[in-house]
Amino acid sequence: MRLYLPEIVRANKPLVREETIELRGIEREVPQLVRLDPVWVRVTASEESGLFHVHAEHRTRASLTCSRCLSPFEKTLSGQWTQEFTNRADRADQDQICFVEGDHIDLTPYIREAVLLELPYAPVCREGCKGLCPECGVDRNRETCLCRTERIDPRLAVLKELRIPED
Ligand SMILES: [Zn+2]
Ligand SMILES: [Zn+2]
Repeated sequence: MRLYLPEIVRANKPLVREETIELRGIEREVPQLVRLDPVWVRVTASEESGLFHVHAEHRTRASLTCSRCLSPFEKTLSGQWTQEFTNRADRADQDQICFVEGDHIDLTPYIREAVLLELPYAPVCREGCKGLCPECGVDRNRETCLCRTERIDPRLAVLKELRIPED
């Protein structure tokens, strides 16, 4: 998604652009991301003395694999960010201002970064997903198995060994 700077300068009110973009190859960067839908983006851009103010909102859906039970699930991702750009070298040394060469700002890398930040490192299909049984592999959200996987406190384990003598 590219913005043409002279167009922002010429506009007498903030320029609004809406686009749906593909973030190609993003699935390769996130192990649990199966597929990302095209991303809807709305950008508002304005200029003042060589400084371009860009505000972007985005929304998309991600197909993910639950990191506990390995089931596929979908999650809506949405967010917004603001960034200042300039094409004047004398202003670019200020913090937080990105320097752009030429007449265009390519926003795709910024959108990609914002979407990546929203993807959880270890996604879970629901709060409290019980995951798979480490012994037999059943999905503990759907089935109950008889495996004893709960870890017994070693102090209690000692007590379990004690037998009360029967008469
Ligand atoms: Zn799960
Ligand atoms: Zn089990």
